[in-house]
Amino acid sequence: MSESPVASTIDFDRPGKQVGRLRVPRSTNDSGWSSVFIPAACVANGSGPTVLVTGGVHGDEPEGQVAALNLAREVQPADVRGRLIILPCLSPEASRAYTRLWPSGANLNRSFPGSPDGPPDEQLADYLTRTLFPLCDAVCDIHSGGRSTMHLPWSEMHMVEDRTQRAAMVDAMLAWGTDYHFIYINIAGGGLLVDEAERQGKIVIGTELGGGGHVTAEIHRVTKHGLGNFLRHLGVLTGAVETRVSRGLPEAVILKALEMRDYNLAPESGLFETLVDLGQDVTAGQLVGRLHFIERPERAPAEVRAGSAGVVCGVRAIASTQQGDCVVVVGQRCSRADLL
Ligand SMILES: [Zn+2]
Repeated sequence: MSESPVASTIDFDRPGKQVGRLRVPRSTNDSGWSSVFIPAACVANGSGPTVLVTGGVHGDEPEGQVAALNLAREVQPADVRGRLIILPCLSPEASRAYTRLWPSGANLNRSFPGSPDGPPDEQLADYLTRTLFPLCDAVCDIHSGGRSTMHLPWSEMHMVEDRTQRAAMVDAMLAWGTDYHFIYINIAGGGLLVDEAERQGKIVIGTELGGGGHVTAEIHRVTKHGLGNFLRHLGVLTGAVETRVSRGLPEAVILKALEMRDYNLAPESGLFETLVDLGQDVTAGQLVGRLHFIERPERAPAEVRAGSAGVVCGVRAIASTQQGDCVVVVGQRCSRADLL
């Protein structure tokens, strides 16, 4: 395979704190000879794990970008045991535009493992796949529902096959300390950042922290606390790990949505009306939403009925809906033991 065209100003083998960038070559209508700069920081101090934190894979998800920028600015070598690599915004052009996808239409979270010979998103994915993931013990990719979806705030993981890897992921997921955690399947294609990091055997955690195009102060606090506690749990940040018990909080709710029927898709295009709210219990077959037809005022709305019983944990945030859009996600309560 060709050498990566992506360059880094950071020497990942050097101790101490470095703040710089990755440079991905690109050529556009407005700028023939240019590059996309990906902000990056590396803080290394002695022996310990290497952990990669990524934000802004999707440009309309500011939670992780803000938390990672704060962390990158504040963290000092004395706070670190091992090596902490922070990429606060992997899709800066999408972040500026506040869109999920890159201006090219690429979804970086469908570009993995990537290719050094592909378009810029695949080149960046390939750099993570072949250069950064191999350095790491753990990877945390911070997402939210973006503009299109509202989620309960949670940390999440896939049910990877390897039981040792999975057990380490469960504990790292719980270390986020959120009220909810989520076990999911890919319903909209593969090629995710986490897919490739999991394939390489890493401890891989994602998040969906709210969404709907707006971030509350509470969500920023949840993100900052969860990320810090996750990093202390892994040992890459110094300091005591907090538990929900030590914080005086009730046990977290773990939800799993491992069947396609848990993800309710719009049967036709229309104006979506949700009939349920996040955190609400529903029964299988319950009417959870309706699609209205602004061009057919005499027509009864189309029904969306829950494909499974459980807790509503995702609701579409953009009312204007196309056939096939996911409008309501339902997860079933499970225990930590169920995941091992
Ligand atoms: Zn995302």
